Amino acid sequence: MSDRFIFTKHRTDCYHCKQVADQIIKAVPNKAQVACDNCGATRVFVPRIQEVAQPGSFTPIGKYPVWELVQDAECRNCHTTGLHDITVGTRHLSVRCRKCGFTHFYKFDLEFIAKDELKIH
Ligand SMILES: [Zn+2]
Ligand SMILES: [Zn+2]
Repeated sequence: MSDRFIFTKHRTDCYHCKQVADQIIKAVPNKAQVACDNCGATRVFVPRIQEVAQPGSFTPIGKYPVWELVQDAECRNCHTTGLHDITVGTRHLSVRCRKCGFTHFYKFDLEFIAKDELKIH
């Protein structure tokens, strides 16, 4: 089984370089990260809770806009491939199966700038 769970991108203005660029979102059960395709600013999230939850349960009201994305993924709980709601905030990230409600909730851990890696194209 592949351990790639979520792999998608969201085009928006980057909090770091302020450019409109693809923000690459990857999540596996033990880690999630969001990286700017332009400047390499990367935010790493670590898992906190995994449980069946109501939509929006893990979405704190914050002052920054939250990205709400939808992607197909294989659920770790009900083992079907179907739509998952992905919510990305500045301090949290969650992935929720629409079928059974199983939610992976990650909290912000650290950030770094992977400039060199991305500039070699
Ligand atoms: Zn950037
Ligand atoms: Zn499920």
